Amino acid sequence: MKLLEEKIKTCGRVLPGGVLKVDGFLNHQIDVDLIMSLGREFFDLFRDEGINKILTVEASGISIAFAAAQFFHVPVVFAKKGENKNVGKDVYTGECFSFTKGKPYEMSVSKAYLGKEDSVLIIDDFLANGAAVKCLMHILDQAGASLVGVGIAIEKGFQPGGSELRAAGVRVESLARIRSMDDEGGIEFFD
Ligand code: 5GP
Repeated sequence: MKLLEEKIKTCGRVLPGGVLKVDGFLNHQIDVDLIMSLGREFFDLFRDEGINKILTVEASGISIAFAAAQFFHVPVVFAKKGENKNVGKDVYTGECFSFTKGKPYEMSVSKAYLGKEDSVLIIDDFLANGAAVKCLMHILDQAGASLVGVGIAIEKGFQPGGSELRAAGVRVESLARIRSMDDEGGIEFFD
């Protein structure tokens, strides 16, 4: 998606260790018009797939999932990170390794909000090694829910998550796919 690629080029900052900082429009300040157009794009890609729920993870996935859900007219469920006393004990859980923080954390979703009747689109801001998406898929398995596909705003295609998920037969749609980034700020996209 050209609009997103341009925004990454003008506002993104490459940090050492292969981390792209996009605080100016996604991870801290939110460019609402841009995020709404990402939501519209996901709707166009998955509109005929019978999706009745969108699953994401707090915090930065929520705005994109919300934008998409506004077109699908379905609820958004977001997995909570860490030990959550207020979610209760009746939860699906998964352990995930955080690429940006370099340590493991737990995700949980209340059993009240996911079940076998659900056909789910997973949405997240970034796809790197695929740990977050695989953890959400593990939660869907526990719920007996069906995975329709995965919508990602920014895939770092030089990390293995996307190719591993596609090789496993998962439909992954990324709106910007980065081929390479260098510490001088150069960012190349796949066509
Ligand atoms: P993965 O689990 O695929 O390795 O990493 C995806 C998760 O880590 C996303 O939920 C995102 O929050 C975070 N992440 C991974 N790479 C980046 C990055 O380069 N920049 C930012 N801002 N977040 C990232």
